[in-house]
Amino acid sequence: MPDPFHTIIEPFRIKSVEPLRFTSREEREAALERAGYNLFALTADEVLIDLLTDSGTGAMSAEQWASIMRGDESYAGSASYERFSAVVHELTGLPHVIPVHQGRAAERILFAETVKAGDVIPNNTHFDTTRANIEHDEGVALDLPCSEASDTQAPAPFKGNMDIAKLETVLADNEGRVPMVFMTVTNNSIGGQPVSMANVRSVREVCDRHGTPLFLDAARFAENCWFVIEREEGYQDRTPTEVAQELFSYADGVTMSAKKDGLANIGGFLALRDDDLAARCRALLILTEGFPTYGGLAGRDLEAVAQGLREILQPDYLRYRVRTTAYLAERCWEAGVPTVRPPGGHAVYLDAGAMLPHIPRDQFPAQALAVELYRLGGVRGVEVGSVMFGDAAQHELVRLALPRRVYTQSHVDYVGEVVAAASKNREAIRGLRIVEEPLFLRHFTARFAPLL
Ligand SMILES: *Cc1c(COP(=O)(O)O)cnc(C)c1O
Repeated sequence: MPDPFHTIIEPFRIKSVEPLRFTSREEREAALERAGYNLFALTADEVLIDLLTDSGTGAMSAEQWASIMRGDESYAGSASYERFSAVVHELTGLPHVIPVHQGRAAERILFAETVKAGDVIPNNTHFDTTRANIEHDEGVALDLPCSEASDTQAPAPFKGNMDIAKLETVLADNEGRVPMVFMTVTNNSIGGQPVSMANVRSVREVCDRHGTPLFLDAARFAENCWFVIEREEGYQDRTPTEVAQELFSYADGVTMSAKKDGLANIGGFLALRDDDLAARCRALLILTEGFPTYGGLAGRDLEAVAQGLREILQPDYLRYRVRTTAYLAERCWEAGVPTVRPPGGHAVYLDAGAMLPHIPRDQFPAQALAVELYRLGGVRGVEVGSVMFGDAAQHELVRLALPRRVYTQSHVDYVGEVVAAASKNREAIRGLRIVEEPLFLRHFTARFAPLL
């Protein structure tokens, strides 16, 4: 930002626009009824501001669209792969770069080649696809978050950290059964909370002592690096690229969903140090994703990711990105709505349990709040509570995830206003009951009915 001005503006101007469709309250009521009060069943044009996810929903830059025209669609030896792998190599320092169609494909291929039944894979907190892919190979996905992580209100700067003492115990107790340790940056499952460089270094030391490889789940690596620059001593004068290069220097491998900090609508990669493991993963890649120079993507997708990985590390972008999330959280606090603190990199998590104490857990307070935000203002968030996790739910949260470079400050102000309106009338919000649910992952397709 140019001195002496303090407003953090969107660091871009708009060149191509996508109109929003406004709906009336009656239309939204009808849509809710049709959708069984499940926001996943709404059509996109029924939603005004879509904060369902930050995955694959970002806006591409003019340079990314230009690079798409340069996409080389050769089946083998594509020039787009050369550009893609050069960017990933420069960033991670890892010699083997394997493109995949999205993050979970990297997980599936990696674990198929490394995890045997009964193996234990520790992580600060596994993302749900990571856990599911490990369990699919009959491994044990172990979460070792630091102690501050469980308190949604603790103001700790690096709540994404791993508990080092617990990791030490797990590695000592499971000698020969831990194919790798994972670190998820930022820690998505506990609210996009960052991991400190000191914590990654300590994990690396423990891994070295036990001869265990360290992998990063790097979906939001750039947001994590920005938090390191803002909050960790000794990093204030470093560039995001330098911090990212240090972060990756501790890793033997990386799984990446480029739908997040790759600033692309699809894509991902698996990057590896070990030659033999890379050869085995490439062989499996050919079986299920495609030839190693495209891995289930079009050449143009590789170009978009390569350019996205450069843009994501621009300080002006990251300053604006992290400020947007904090700004939305502040609007919620002003309205008397508690959120997970401190706000993470990609989303604000409203604490519906605290906001709606009159709705018991078996009447789904977070689902009720998500429905109310849609009913009042056409804003779509997602329930992260008892609908998603059943009795295992620790909190009743509504996640408002911010797509990258898509919405402006006035959109965020509007969302704040909708949250405030819901808060003002909070006693009138009623719970829901489930009238229909599938066997697995019920949050996607369950149908609800409002309680009176
Ligand atoms: C999204 C995500 C994944 C999976 O990536 P997809 O591209 O959705 O398959 C893995 N880990 C984390 C932390 C994620 O956020």
